[in-house]
Amino acid sequence: MRNVLKFGGTSVGSAENIKKVSKIVENPDVKLVVLSAMSGTTDILVKIEAAAKANKKTEIVSNIEFLKSKYLTCIGDLLKDKKSATDYINDTLEQISTISTNGFSDGEIQARGELMTTFIFTEYLKETGRKAELLFSPDYMFTDKSGTVIQEKLSAMKDATSDKDTIYVAQGFICTTSANKLGTLGRGGSDYSAALMGVAIEADEVQIWTDIDGMHTGDPRYVKGTHPIRMMSFEEAAEMAYFGAKILHPATIDPCRRAGIPVILKNTMDPAAEGTTIGDEDQSATTFHAVAAKDEITLIRISSARMLMAYGFLCKVFEIFEKWKTPIDMITTSEVAVSLTIDNSLHLSEIKTELEELGTVEIEHRNSIVCIVGRMDYDHSGISARIFKAVENIPVKMISYGASHHSISLLIDTKYKVATLQSLNNNLF
Ligand code: ADP
Ligand code: ASP
Ligand code: MG
Repeated sequence: MRNVLKFGGTSVGSAENIKKVSKIVENPDVKLVVLSAMSGTTDILVKIEAAAKANKKTEIVSNIEFLKSKYLTCIGDLLKDKKSATDYINDTLEQISTISTNGFSDGEIQARGELMTTFIFTEYLKETGRKAELLFSPDYMFTDKSGTVIQEKLSAMKDATSDKDTIYVAQGFICTTSANKLGTLGRGGSDYSAALMGVAIEADEVQIWTDIDGMHTGDPRYVKGTHPIRMMSFEEAAEMAYFGAKILHPATIDPCRRAGIPVILKNTMDPAAEGTTIGDEDQSATTFHAVAAKDEITLIRISSARMLMAYGFLCKVFEIFEKWKTPIDMITTSEVAVSLTIDNSLHLSEIKTELEELGTVEIEHRNSIVCIVGRMDYDHSGISARIFKAVENIPVKMISYGASHHSISLLIDTKYKVATLQSLNNNLF
């Protein structure tokens, strides 16, 4: 087997946890290990970028000192020979300090966190007697002007990982941009890196190792009594990730689904726990599997008598969203009105002005989409009744059902999110 294993920030967040990771990757099936930065690092690097833009020098210095102490403590607790890792961390932090005063492009500072963890981890693997090689992901992971990854370039990773006795280590999250600078794939993007690398090296499995025992029925940060799900289909997992399940970056599933590579979610803190296997349809699956929620949703309602019995009206509406490059998430229509939701309000005022030429426009902010995923075959009765019963005390603004066999979405005011998630968890699972 050739497996790709990705470990997130908590998994590499201390010397103790890095030792756990090294035990897990003793398995001979592990070909490539993809790492995030130590937990909290990227948040600090984002702060340094902001401080640099605002010319707040003392803030830059104090944040760099914080990172220095965090990483040197880790090296102190982990490595016998500390010299080259210490030099590497000092050099990297020096580079951050220099570019924060001399100018940098977007993500150039953030990208350095993953470089630090992968260096330390590779040193540790070598000290424990492993044949390990550190790869520099931006030599393979390139994005074009629109920020899209160029998969053809990434395929060179296959040859770069061909030695059968070597375990390879690479950074998640980071890339080379179209301007030939260090950049990132966006927050939480290490999962996506691992998926793309898994496709590139023709992996048998992509394993995402984190701090929880797999995908739960609901978001454990808000909901009590959730439990892990053993198996999920690619479609369900993609919907969960898109609609806010933080455990997976939303873009992770698609490349693996296309290549037919299963994605396994596992817990670094409890490797024996089964975790969640995401693959083709699970025929034994029950109706309801899990619920996720996505915040910062704006509802737009357009009413117009001109819509009555007319064709071409929706086309005009969609053209406005296309022009302003704003994706629509949910949509419902009646004879004389259409309601839709967006999560990117950057061009809301331009969109509103143009929609007003078509009819009366109402806008409501601070909504959440709650997405229930599972196997909801159209010939099953009672599915919607169970959901409506569970949310009978919640004012629901929109419902989307029938677009796929895999999900039902509700739009609610964000103030009802926790109550909605809890009630669905209590009643559906
Ligand atoms: P990593 O740093 O390893 O990438 P993340 O913090 O990005 O980890 O993702 C793991 C977290 O996702 C969990 O600790 C949990 O709080 C959160 N999470 C949100 N929704 C779910 C869900 N449905 N199932 C499991 N975890 C979830
Ligand atoms: N370190 C990056 C972040 O915190 C990427 C990741 O962890 O997936 O967003
Ligand atoms: Mg993550």
